[in-house]
Amino acid sequence: MPKAQETVLEIDLKALRENYQYLRSQLENGVKFLAVVKAFAYGSDSTEIALELQKAGVDYFAVAYTSEGVLLRDAGISKPILVLHPQAINLKTIIDRCLEPNLYNNKILDAFLAAAADENQTHYPVHIKFNTGLNRLGFIETDIPTIASKINKSRSIKVKSIFSHLAASEDLKEREFTLNQIKSFKALAKKLSDALGYQPMLHMSNTSGVLNYPEAHFDMVRSGIGLYGFGNSVKENQHFKPIATLKTIISQIHTIKKGDSVGYNRAFVSDSEQRTATLPIGHADGIGRQYGKGKGYVMIHGKRAPIVGNVCMDMIMVNVTDIDCKEGDEVIVFDATNTAEDLAKTAQTISYEILTAISQRVKRVFI
Ligand code: PLP
Repeated sequence: MPKAQETVLEIDLKALRENYQYLRSQLENGVKFLAVVKAFAYGSDSTEIALELQKAGVDYFAVAYTSEGVLLRDAGISKPILVLHPQAINLKTIIDRCLEPNLYNNKILDAFLAAAADENQTHYPVHIKFNTGLNRLGFIETDIPTIASKINKSRSIKVKSIFSHLAASEDLKEREFTLNQIKSFKALAKKLSDALGYQPMLHMSNTSGVLNYPEAHFDMVRSGIGLYGFGNSVKENQHFKPIATLKTIISQIHTIKKGDSVGYNRAFVSDSEQRTATLPIGHADGIGRQYGKGKGYVMIHGKRAPIVGNVCMDMIMVNVTDIDCKEGDEVIVFDATNTAEDLAKTAQTISYEILTAISQRVKRVFI
């Protein structure tokens, strides 16, 4: 692997393909695979990742916002793209760029029916989402007669899939809740399909659902975090390899005396002579202030160097008193061994947040 000469996020495309193959191997033949590539493919870079997954045989993609779907189309993604959280203002763009909207309430359904009619569409593919317990987005049972009647009256749209989202598929203590979600999804999907007079595809599983609930695989699964190398528990993690390594270098080393402070607000005052290294990565790159004051750390030559004082916008200072290192040496913020999840734990958050927080100014390098 090339040594870092600046801050870079290195993405291992082989690991991505292997994670994908593992998830695929959990599915019965014929079950489709949707790759969730929202938020720049969980921080790794949506276009490169989606192109690689398209080559590997992924059937579908999903993004959160319309603009993310446009980016994928511009990059040459030809597979269907589900927009999970469209807003009425973007519906014409959705049609222009052949994106497929999630219609989750009457407001967005009505707006899309109008937009599809305006654009002279026939049977434009849409996806209907049900709320089965997450209480985030989605129709409920009493909406079914109204939505079926609106859709059946219009030739502009056709329901390509009915879907829902699991709230706690990683948590085996919540098994009864999840089984209830699956049961109510089946009942809602049957009721809507009967009212429509045709059977759309059904999907419900995220990565933990793929691993823990085969009965929720239905016609397609929607996986995100597993592709990028993480599950939602130690047991789930063992199936995946983290694809991202965040690297940087030492810009400068200081020797500080007892009583000297480091960084803004003098948040760290040394009680002894110490060596600190300044690194070109800060909260504007995705290393939040919560990692400061000794909570987070980086790895230098295999040893932990804790972050000293407050995280600055473009820099952190780390304690290298016990590490034999010099200016220009490589620093690992996280990799497949000291993972984004390990770092996440130091600030009581989850790998998803660490990965998606890596800002766009950090160069992505693909190996
Ligand atoms: N489906 C929906 C609707 C989502 O919002 C997400 C991610 O948040 C996923 C699937 C993928 O979940 P995971 O990354 O846990 O596989």
